Amino acid sequence: MVPQVSTNQNTLFLNIEENLQNKEVEIELLQETFTEIGSELNLDTVFQIVATRARKLLAAETILIPILDENCETYTYMGGAGINADEIVGESLPLEFGVCGWVWRHKRPWWQGVLDELSEEERNMWEKEAGTMILVPLQGKRHFLGGIAGINKTNGKEFTRRDLTLLSMFASIVAIAIENAMAVKKIEEAHKIAEDYQLRLEILNKQLMESSRELEFLSLYDTVTSLPNRTLFRDRLTQNILLAQSNNSSFGVVLIDLNDFKQVNDALGHDSGDRVLKEIADRFNNYISAQETLARPGGDEFIFLFPNTDKKSIISKTKDVLKLLNEHFDIDKSEIALSASVGIALYPEHGRDIGELLRHADWAMYQAKKNKQRYNIYDPETDDTSLGKLTLQADLRNTLENYGFELYYQPQITLNGDQIIAVEALARWPHAEKGFIPPNIFIPALEQAGLIDKFTYWAIEQSLKHAHELKKLGHIMEIAINISTQTLTSANFIKNIKDIIQNKENGKHLVFEITESLFFSEYEKVSDTLQQICDLGISLSIDDFGTGYSSLSRLKRLPVSELKIDQSFVKDMSHSSDDEAIVRSTIDLAHNLGLTVVAEGVESKKVYQQLKDLGCDLAQGFLISKPVTFNDLISFLKKNTT
Ligand code: C2E
Ligand code: MG
Ligand code: MG
Repeated sequence: MVPQVSTNQNTLFLNIEENLQNKEVEIELLQETFTEIGSELNLDTVFQIVATRARKLLAAETILIPILDENCETYTYMGGAGINADEIVGESLPLEFGVCGWVWRHKRPWWQGVLDELSEEERNMWEKEAGTMILVPLQGKRHFLGGIAGINKTNGKEFTRRDLTLLSMFASIVAIAIENAMAVKKIEEAHKIAEDYQLRLEILNKQLMESSRELEFLSLYDTVTSLPNRTLFRDRLTQNILLAQSNNSSFGVVLIDLNDFKQVNDALGHDSGDRVLKEIADRFNNYISAQETLARPGGDEFIFLFPNTDKKSIISKTKDVLKLLNEHFDIDKSEIALSASVGIALYPEHGRDIGELLRHADWAMYQAKKNKQRYNIYDPETDDTSLGKLTLQADLRNTLENYGFELYYQPQITLNGDQIIAVEALARWPHAEKGFIPPNIFIPALEQAGLIDKFTYWAIEQSLKHAHELKKLGHIMEIAINISTQTLTSANFIKNIKDIIQNKENGKHLVFEITESLFFSEYEKVSDTLQQICDLGISLSIDDFGTGYSSLSRLKRLPVSELKIDQSFVKDMSHSSDDEAIVRSTIDLAHNLGLTVVAEGVESKKVYQQLKDLGCDLAQGFLISKPVTFNDLISFLKKNTT
């Protein structure tokens, strides 16, 4: 028998059935959501799925997903679905703002039922604003993320407690997926930053390589004639000296200086002058063989290196070269006649190192010019500046023992603020009979006499003493001292410096200027010594940069903090585009390597401004001040510092 069921019971059964069906649909929806976002790592897609599913679950007009921003001062609607959602998504609001602010503060859901717990005043306020809203927090595994908000039911009714329970459950399921996708996005962003950084680094490296290649070309060749320049010529000289030493041969240097070439430039202009130089270079170049070298060291000078030669054969070659100038030069329909004065020096007879050979060829050339000879071969007997004649050794020793040398100081000024922050100590020898002997003469003599170490330690002590005196007068000033390679590579150098410096505070007053010739020494040993110098608080600077052969890769690895561009590039940079290009790329290169750049030999305001425009850091030169005595330096600083 079928039991009798009343109408009331019937309705109840129907309700239960409908409820069960609803539950099934909800569970299915939750399951689907879970499966869909479980494997989704794209944050925007996750937000999109969550918003659409939540909207269906609650039968809400709009769903919004406010997420706290990393700064913890704002939150942003990161996802949404339904009416007006498109306009709101992306908007950021202050953390405390609106119902969201209430939920962040209390870390519990908001729904209409909450209104009953509030004071009347609060209730009136929120009822208007948020009576038809439901907002549950999104709590991730590690962080509080934000919330999911539903606004207005589609059927016009209010959200029920059931809606609240459902959305809370939904939120707890999706929070982990959102948190995971956020973490993935963060990792991706970090990856992107790393990639961008890597890319920038690669570009920077490329620029560095290009500028160093350009610099290498510019610093080895003359762009007017394409001949090797002074630097490359010096390198060839070094190689020939080594070769001549090993096979006991001799070679000759022939320096050609054109007579009155300035008149050609003045009359026809620099462009025509350059064409004449090019034509001379071509004629000379056709004359030499593969083993011989021709270079243009600058201006109106050319220089030859003839290996395996003696006095007789070099004179014969010189005559040949001079004959090449006999024929007129046809430039701009003018016929130009040129003559030259030639100086010759032979290795080993007239000099055993580059400096001596070039100085003596130069001296011989001046003699030729002075005496209106076509050429002149160096003669030590008539050279009264020759060190041999000065018989310096005893003199030097005496001077050193009696503290007869003096240190002059030349200021270095910052180009971006005109502040004097450092000085270079330059040695002077006031000689009782011969007047002032320049350091270019007596420093090599001290080296040859084995007295340079003692001299250098004296110069360091003196500089340190003066740095302290300046400090007492209120001038904190670094003092740069030139250190000979010979001294720097000597056995007890670091120990002796430690004895003088005593502590790092003292070391900080000093800069050691070293030259590129150092890089020909044993690398490991030198780099160890340089590091020890830095450990004593002393900074390192590369002097006369551009005249030697610095290996840039080595430079990068050495603890050097400053680079001084040689004055031969700086002096003429306002009217030599070659020099300007070298200075420009040196500054770029040095800055890329994190080095400070000092320009030496700044003699004019124009060059000063150019260097400033190129971003050079410091300037040193006659424009600012010649090297002066310590007392004059104090007066200078008094006048020029505020
Ligand atoms: P340096 O270290 O490159 O010093 C710069 C030289 O350029 C100095 O010559 C300075 O007087 C000169 N100078 C500075 N500004 C200008 C300018 O605007 N125009 C021109 N034409 N020249 C300028 P100085 O004093 O004759 O010294 C020559 C070199 O002798 C120095 O070149 C340095 O290599 C060496 N020297 C000087 N003092 C010492 C020292 O105490 N120890 C060692 N080892 N070498 C020293
Ligand atoms: Mg120097
Ligand atoms: Mg220098």
